[in-house]
Amino acid sequence: MASGSPRVLVVGGGIAGLGAAQRLCRHPAAPHLRVLEATAGAGGRIRSERYFGGVVELGAHWIHGPSQGNPVFQLAAEFGLLGEEELSAENQLVETGGHVALPSVSCTSSGTRVSPELVTEMASLFYGLIDRTREFLNATETPMASVGEFLKKELSQQVASWTEDEDTKKLKLAILNTFFNIECCVSGTHSMDLVALAPFGEYTVLPGLDCTLAGGYQGLTNCILASLPKDSMVFDKPVKTIHWNGSFQEAAFPGETFPVLVECEDGTRLPAHHVIVTVPLGFLKEHQDTFFEPPLPAKKAEVIRKIGFGTNNKIFLEFEEPFWDPDCKAIQVVWEDTSPLQDTALSLQDTWFKKLIGFLVLPPFESSHVLCGFIAGLESEFMETLSDEEVLLSLTQVLRRMTGNSQLPAAKSVLRSRWHSAPYTRGSYSYVAVGSTGDDLDVLAQPLPADGTGTQLQILFAGEATHRTFYSTTHGALLSGWREADRLISLWDSQVQQPQPRL
Ligand SMILES: Cc1cc2nc3c(=O)[nH]c(=O)nc-3n(C[C@H](O)[C@H](O)[C@H](O)COP(=O)(O)OP(=O)(O)OC[C@H]3O[C@@H](n4cnc5c(N)ncnc54)[C@H](O)[C@@H]3O)c2cc1C
Repeated sequence: MASGSPRVLVVGGGIAGLGAAQRLCRHPAAPHLRVLEATAGAGGRIRSERYFGGVVELGAHWIHGPSQGNPVFQLAAEFGLLGEEELSAENQLVETGGHVALPSVSCTSSGTRVSPELVTEMASLFYGLIDRTREFLNATETPMASVGEFLKKELSQQVASWTEDEDTKKLKLAILNTFFNIECCVSGTHSMDLVALAPFGEYTVLPGLDCTLAGGYQGLTNCILASLPKDSMVFDKPVKTIHWNGSFQEAAFPGETFPVLVECEDGTRLPAHHVIVTVPLGFLKEHQDTFFEPPLPAKKAEVIRKIGFGTNNKIFLEFEEPFWDPDCKAIQVVWEDTSPLQDTALSLQDTWFKKLIGFLVLPPFESSHVLCGFIAGLESEFMETLSDEEVLLSLTQVLRRMTGNSQLPAAKSVLRSRWHSAPYTRGSYSYVAVGSTGDDLDVLAQPLPADGTGTQLQILFAGEATHRTFYSTTHGALLSGWREADRLISLWDSQVQQPQPRL
């Protein structure tokens, strides 16, 4: 039984953990609160770094669907982090349907420019099929298990009716292959064959033209952090094991017993009434066997294994002079010898860079010009094992091929994310994998103990992977943190209404 205010520990200082802490601090029950963060900084997968004389985003890039229904957009607006254009009504009304904007230019691997009409035609074919996946929403049976298989089956039928010459047909397939790779980046997966078809349409796209935070996304998590009571955030404090369903006594709290005890890597033992776990699904996949004692119930353990969690990385290249046109916003690469309808043997060493979808042109920095490449899947994970020099060399060769200019100066420097190797993340974000459904995300979000015995709400689960319709986003993560804070607040409020000892 607790004396005084409840002790709450939040594990993880990303936007989910910070959001939960923010909400709890404002409650009159004024819990004794600590956020334990494994690394030296707050933000998690929101990570802005000063580099190349500007700010680059190693993690989250855009506010997806920046409009009134998006809490990240609203918070960023409240904190004064958005400009006039981002806040404009026109911006908020744009319906993108979640489709990635068309590139300014599309270049083949042999240095020719693809006609914008052909790219537009292939984009509308591809996204038309993506939209059709909603036909299977919540279907108990689907003709095939994955989004990839559905797309490929429909495409093969279309291809049969193409009447152009063989070269044009090959080019169209190569463009479509780039769209498959783009979708892998969006879904954070190696292949769309791994993404479940029936629940795919459950992911919800909010209105609004995706926008960025000019001063860096991390400005947002820094503002939330600044709003928390001093000393509530503890950095460099990796949690090793969460002991739950116990009756723990610690010398620092004479006469008190706690249902949960958090053991940190440095040996610190922190007792608590409630723990909100916000560590990434990738971390849970790797450590769930030792992270919880007793182990998680079988159903929870199973969904952690089943829900997908893949890798999407960014590679930034810095140039002294831009080789692209001043109004160019994105450069797409089309590998001429590829097709989504043909499986190619995976030789990562020789072909990893063919998974790169192209480059976003960042607004010019003080004295440099920066491109941001995106790459997903096993190729992205392989890229993480290479040295900066190797990555720079490979991408210089890619750019020389795309521009048809063998003398194109190499990039001055390179910076990349390595989310798969990051020990406290182990990947980029979640997706609903073949064999799992939206229900599994709800199971992941269920607090423990699940059977209603023992002290209520000992372990609560937040983080992007626990949001059924906004998984993989910052707003999904923030909402999940708020959801778990509200769950605790409801418990406390019900206890105030019906005074009885906390069990
Ligand atoms: C490359 C990339 C691009 C992205 N782009 C976008 C985008 O454009 N728009 C968008 O909305 N979303 C994007 N996302 C997704 C978005 O960043 C995440 O969904 C969101 O930030 C996740 O927040 P979170 O709090 O759930 O998890 P995290 O931010 O990962 O926070 C979890 C925290 O837990 C800590 N932790 C882990 N293990 C322990 C431990 N044992 N003890 C203590 N602490 C621990 C971690 O260090 C981390 O700080 C992107 C992600 C990546 C990687």
